Amino acid sequence: MRLSNRVLALKPSSTVAVMNKAKALKASGVDVLNFGAGEPDFNTPEPAKRAAIAAINANNTKYIDTPGDLASRELLAKLLTERSGVPGVTKDHIIITAGVKMALYLTFQALFDEPASEGERREMLLPVPSWVSFAPMARLAGAKIVELVTTPEADFKVTPAQLKAAINPRTRVILFNSPSNPCSTMYTESELRALAAVIADAGKTIAPDLCVVSDELYQNIVFGSVKHFSIGACPEIAERTITINGPGKSFAMTGWRLGWASGSGDFGKSIVGAMTKLQGQSITCVPGFSLAAVRAALTECSAELETMRAAFAKRADLIFTLLGALPGVKVARPIGAFYVFPDISAHLGKTSPAGKKLTGAAEFAAALLDEKLMAVVPGEDFSSEIGHKHIRMSFACDEAQIREGAKRLGEFIAALR
Ligand code: PMP
Repeated sequence: MRLSNRVLALKPSSTVAVMNKAKALKASGVDVLNFGAGEPDFNTPEPAKRAAIAAINANNTKYIDTPGDLASRELLAKLLTERSGVPGVTKDHIIITAGVKMALYLTFQALFDEPASEGERREMLLPVPSWVSFAPMARLAGAKIVELVTTPEADFKVTPAQLKAAINPRTRVILFNSPSNPCSTMYTESELRALAAVIADAGKTIAPDLCVVSDELYQNIVFGSVKHFSIGACPEIAERTITINGPGKSFAMTGWRLGWASGSGDFGKSIVGAMTKLQGQSITCVPGFSLAAVRAALTECSAELETMRAAFAKRADLIFTLLGALPGVKVARPIGAFYVFPDISAHLGKTSPAGKKLTGAAEFAAALLDEKLMAVVPGEDFSSEIGHKHIRMSFACDEAQIREGAKRLGEFIAALR
């Protein structure tokens, strides 16, 4: 049976594919080391679990308001105002969605159209390397992806000059993800203010409907050298910025499938209203009892959050040190999130012990899984230009696994011919 062109053109998620393969191998008894999954190895904090169980026992099991219940939206608006400094956010500027993925999906659906002709296709500027789902999701909504290639030398960050040169009348969205998956780099407040100035200027001149989508999912997983800053806090672009966040990574709540999007002022109400219409015609609302857990996480779990953050900070040091000592592996120090994105290109063109030719990261990762039972995500889907030189490893796992992984990777590399 024929399927839609939309689906036929869509690539499956490579991170989800690696995660599922590693989980299936593990379930069949194979001792696979999984560095693929971008999810904390911690449990959801007890106060969050208790709050959800109490909500179920109180029969909070019915449909709730489409954008999320009042108490949760009021709390999120307050936190965005007080902790992130984003102006003009009220309960009417928030929508709670089924994961950050859905918040992004609805955002792109609300901003892009399938154009009548190719020349009219609107663009999304995407600093790369970037997380694998941004581009496919935006393309599905009708966007043309324009990659802004960043380099390890520039800490994988775009500069104001690079952004200015890329913005044109067809630009609709510029996407930021700080801290970043897969680079674990972060923009400083002054860097974001300089980028905001370029965006504000372009918005007044060549690109009046330019929007910023800021994915801040790793906001709380930061290791101290750079303080997290929300670009939506810059007043001159607040009313063209959609800030996206969720509890999955910070509070070890990936499986709860919750996230949210917010905007400021009239713009914020209008975009959140559009997303609410889409949600009303798709999932209706998220489960109300799960929002009790989110409120507890955000207000009662600062000790658990700090314990997990500190553990990630230690692991960041460990993996950076161990991988950096391997021959032909170039790795940047992670300063937020829980990934490393080492450059393994010195080993491309070599052959693995089992006779596999390593032409790119995809072949490197496949051989590493087959021959060393170690799952990493090949870099190709993070950047069409430089991805093939990199692999992504999540360090949301314990220190023993990090040590064993570095050992296996070292042995693999040493045996290449
Ligand atoms: N954005 C980024 C940058 C991510 O790394 C991820 C998950 N890996 C997501 C969004 C998706 O988050 P969620 O699981 O809440 O849908």
